[in-house]
Amino acid sequence: METLKRTKIKDLLAAQPGAEVLAKGWVRTKRGNKQVKFIALNDGSTINNIQIVANAELFDEELFKRITTGASLAVRGKLVESMGSGQAVEIQATDIQVLGECDPMRFPLQKKDTTLEYLRSVAHMRLRTNTFGAVLRIRNQMAYAIHTFFNQKGFVYLHTPLITESDAEGAGDMFQVTTLDLKNIPLDKKGNVDFSKDFFGKKTSLTVSGQLEGELGATAVGEIYTFGPTFRAENSNTPRHLAEFWMIEPEMAFYDINDNMELAEEFVKFLVQWALDHCLDDLQFLNDKYDEGLIERMRSVLGIAFQRVTYTEAVEILEKAIADGVKFEYPVHWGTDFQSEHERYLVEKHFGKPVILIDFPKDIKAFYMKQNEDGRTVRGMDVLFPKIGEIIGGSEREASLEKLEQRIEELGMSRKNLEWYIDTRRYGSVPHSGFGLGFERLLLFVTGMSNIRDVIPFPRTPKNAEF
Ligand code: ATP
Ligand code: MN
Repeated sequence: METLKRTKIKDLLAAQPGAEVLAKGWVRTKRGNKQVKFIALNDGSTINNIQIVANAELFDEELFKRITTGASLAVRGKLVESMGSGQAVEIQATDIQVLGECDPMRFPLQKKDTTLEYLRSVAHMRLRTNTFGAVLRIRNQMAYAIHTFFNQKGFVYLHTPLITESDAEGAGDMFQVTTLDLKNIPLDKKGNVDFSKDFFGKKTSLTVSGQLEGELGATAVGEIYTFGPTFRAENSNTPRHLAEFWMIEPEMAFYDINDNMELAEEFVKFLVQWALDHCLDDLQFLNDKYDEGLIERMRSVLGIAFQRVTYTEAVEILEKAIADGVKFEYPVHWGTDFQSEHERYLVEKHFGKPVILIDFPKDIKAFYMKQNEDGRTVRGMDVLFPKIGEIIGGSEREASLEKLEQRIEELGMSRKNLEWYIDTRRYGSVPHSGFGLGFERLLLFVTGMSNIRDVIPFPRTPKNAEF
C-alpha cells in the first residue's frame, strides 16, 4: 500500500475521478448493510469527509468491527464519481488498513452532540471534532494573514521578550517568574524577598505587552509588529479573557492618531476579508451550527467606515440612553472606564457598526499616551466590535520627554526599570503610534464562538492549566 503516495482529502474532493488513490484519516461515521459499508473519513485538511465505499465481498466482518468512530485508517482504492448525494467523488476501496483502533466504549467523543463545555474538559481530544478542526484552520489562516498584511506593508516582525523586569504600564496583573526555593525564600535585612539571589538577580515576570520594546524597534526601523504570547493574571473569568493569549502589536514611527486609526481599520478589514476568501467551508459550518449571523456579520463590517467618536460624546450617548430607560449593570459618568455592555450598546444599538473610541480621560489610560491640549484627555483609541466589545486598544504615544516625565511623576511611578524606555524620547524622539489586537478576540469575531476558551487549542484560565 505504501508505494502509493497519500493524497489529502481536501485535494481528493477537488480531483477528477479515475485515479488509484491512497487516503489516510480518522473515521467519523460508519453505516451500511450486509453488502456494502460507507465510511466517512476525515484527515483535518478540510471540514468535509471523503466517503469510502467498502464492498463486503472484499473485506471480512472482523475488519469492519475494528472500524469504529475515531479509529485511524489507510484506504487504497479508486476515486470514482459518487452515486449518492452530498459529494462529487468517493473511494471504492480495494485495501483498508486499521492504523489505530479506537475503543468505542472509552472514546471521549462519543455522543453526537457534545456541548462546548464538555469538550473543554477533554481539550486533548476535542481537536478531533469538526468544530475544533474548523477553528484551528481559521486560526491558522488568520495568523498567516497577519504576517501577510504586515509584510506587504514593509513592517518588520520584532520578537519581544516574554520574561521582563518592567510591568509595562500595569496593563494587567503579572505572573512572577522565579527559580527561588519557595520553601526557603531568601530575605534581605528588611525582611523583603532578596531577588538578588533569584535567577535574573531581579524580580521578573511574564510580559503583559510587548509595546514598550516595540517602541524601541519602531524608533529604529520605522514600522514593526509583534505577534506572540501575552500573559495576564486576570482573575475575572469572563468569556473574553484568558490568562495566556496572543497579541499582535504594531508600532509605527511618524504615525499620528489618525494614521493609527486608519491602519487599525484597514488591518481588521483585511483579516475579515481573508477569512471569507480562504475559510468559507469552515465558516459555513460554524455559521450553521453555532451562529446563524456569522457570515452576515463579517460581511457587514467590510463595506462601511467605522464610526469614530470621542469618549466624551460616547458618555453623552450612554447617559441619554439611560435617561431613556436603557438599563446597564454598571454606572456611566465622565471619568469611568466603559464596560463591555456599554461598548456593545454603542456598536450594536446606537451606531450599528464598529466604533473607534478616542480621546479618553487620562486617568483611565496608561502613562505613555499622548496628552491632548485640554489637559484632561489623551490620544488613546479603542476599536469596538459587535458581539465582542473591545478588540483593539492603542494610542498615539507621548513623544515629548518633558511631558512623559511629568506624567510618570504625577502617577508616582518608579523610574527604576523605565530609563531605557525614556531614552527613546531623549535621543531622536519622533511622533509615533501603535495598538494591540487580541488574537483570540479577533477569532471570536471570525468564528462566531462565544467563549474565548473555544478559539485557542489549550486555554489557560484561573484554576485551569491542564493539557
Ligand atoms: P479589556 O478591557 O477587555 O480587559 P484591556 O484594556 O485590558 O482589555 P489592552 O491592555 O488594551 O486591553 O490590550 C490590547 C488588546 O488585547 C485588547 O483590546 C484585547 O483585544 C486583548 N486582550 C486584553 N486582555 C486580554 C485577555 N485577558 N485575554 C484575551 N485578550 C485580551
Ligand atoms: Mn484587561
